[in-house]
Amino acid sequence: MINVAIDGPAGAGKSTIARSVAKQLGYIYVDTGALYRAVGVYNLRNNVDTKDEKAVAATLADINVELKFIDGEQHVILNGDDVSQEIRQPEASMAASNVSAIPAVRTFLFDLQREIASKNNCLMDGRDIGTVVLPNADVKIFLTADPEERARRRFLELQAKGDPSTYEEVLADLKVRDYQDSHREVAPLKPAEDSILINTTGNELEESIQIICDTIKEKING
Ligand code: C5P
Repeated sequence: MINVAIDGPAGAGKSTIARSVAKQLGYIYVDTGALYRAVGVYNLRNNVDTKDEKAVAATLADINVELKFIDGEQHVILNGDDVSQEIRQPEASMAASNVSAIPAVRTFLFDLQREIASKNNCLMDGRDIGTVVLPNADVKIFLTADPEERARRRFLELQAKGDPSTYEEVLADLKVRDYQDSHREVAPLKPAEDSILINTTGNELEESIQIICDTIKEKING
């Protein structure tokens, strides 16, 4: 199976770009952030403090997360419920970042990610795909952009959905998540040594899609 790892900070455009590139290449697109978000949402629903390592770890026995691919679109199923929409709320972003720093949560979600990659040609996006989940991926890309540009993109996305968050709130949240994600002890966000660094600041979306598609094809076809 061909596995492409795409890592990078929040708002770098990973999901939009990876979804489109996966379609062009005929691979499935796996958004691993959705798994951490699902664990975050379960804990929010049950009023568990998502920074309380012991309390969150204790909920894992009651959580079943699955990914289903319907018409090529990933759906996240939490204990039988499709939570694909709910996990996109801003509270779920911070909850995901909090729970993702807990080693038991990472271990809990590891096998599922590995299993999907072993059975499908896929583009998998996350924070630790090239470094931890798929260290032998055929192609590793680390996608980034300046924080202000990432916040602006995320803000426009949220605004389109009717979310009342301001640009300043989105930027502040993003900086907290960047810091947490890159400073945690387990699987911190960092480029794999053999990853290709791509900075999308100032690019039109189509441009970034093209660059990444070409990079992958070149690496795979030699
Ligand atoms: O990519 P997304 O913003 O949906 O991810 C939500 C959170 O899940 C991130 O801020 C990060 O803390 C965590 N995450 C992770 N490892 C991954 C994917 C996401 O720690 N592979």
